[in-house]
Amino acid sequence: MPAQILDGKTLAQKILSELSEKIEQTRLIKGRPPGLAVLMVGDNPASAVYVRNKERSCLNVGMSSYGRHFPHDVEQSIVIDEIERLNQDPNLDGILLQLPVPDYLNATEILYKITPEKDADGLHPINLGKLVRAEDGLRSCTPLGVMKLLEEYNIEPDGKRVVIVGRSILVGKPLSLMLLEKNATVTVAHSRTLNLAQVTNEADILIAAVGKPGLITSSMVKSGAVVIDVGINRLSDGTLAGDVDFASVSQVASYITPVPGGVGPLTVAMLLVNTFASYQKCP
Ligand code: NAD
Repeated sequence: MPAQILDGKTLAQKILSELSEKIEQTRLIKGRPPGLAVLMVGDNPASAVYVRNKERSCLNVGMSSYGRHFPHDVEQSIVIDEIERLNQDPNLDGILLQLPVPDYLNATEILYKITPEKDADGLHPINLGKLVRAEDGLRSCTPLGVMKLLEEYNIEPDGKRVVIVGRSILVGKPLSLMLLEKNATVTVAHSRTLNLAQVTNEADILIAAVGKPGLITSSMVKSGAVVIDVGINRLSDGTLAGDVDFASVSQVASYITPVPGGVGPLTVAMLLVNTFASYQKCP
């Protein structure tokens, strides 16, 4: 039987519609809507699409959106000065730097300047440290979206064998910690993993976050496994594909995310959820 689709798009719409109601109620008490600043450097077309999506989603839920678009040759100090100004802005609850930034900039130094209370992407070391310690804090949006999807479909990580392919600071590492918190037994595979297929075949829940279209084929998936595809790859014909060969893997898995319409919409929804959480904490 083909796998059941894990519909991230519908879940994201549900989360955003609940958020919109909460914003409407809270803005009367607070006297202002929540605000998110999205900073972008240069003209990467994929980034421009992501930034537009984020700004549109903000406006749809009644959140203020402040776009800051810097030219491709902006100086590091100018971006940092702007972040320091936004840190002090009482109308802003979240600040996000759209990645990647051009190579000559030090992205880590810029990210570290965002005050942890407004770190809507959950990438500041204070927030990552809180995740390691299982303390409350702002969590990275894409891993948080994956956790929401599992929760929505009552897929319980407790006691399960989870394999994450990809160990980035954006996805694989924080997601492994979130799943550990939920008592999963987690393996993180990466580009230097030997016998990848042998490792992935042990997974009850297999998560791919690599950036290589079709990397995960049906022979790498245990029958009945839950398969989550975080990958977003633009193919030469302009279409989007994940890291999982959807056609063949959906014949083996019990649940599977599509690309697009899986994890992607949840990443944006979690960004707004994080911004709202900071807004609620703000006096
Ligand atoms: P990254 O390049 O930072 O990390 C890729 C990881 O994949 C690395 O840890 C690397 O070791 C591993 N890897 C590379 N080749 C491999 C191979 N052949 N076998 C096993 N592991 C291999 O990428 P990232 O930022 O984590 O993003 C990964 C993918 O997820 C990309 O396609 C990106 O576009 C997508 N992404 C999607 C969302 C979303 O909202 N759905 C958010 C962030 C990233």
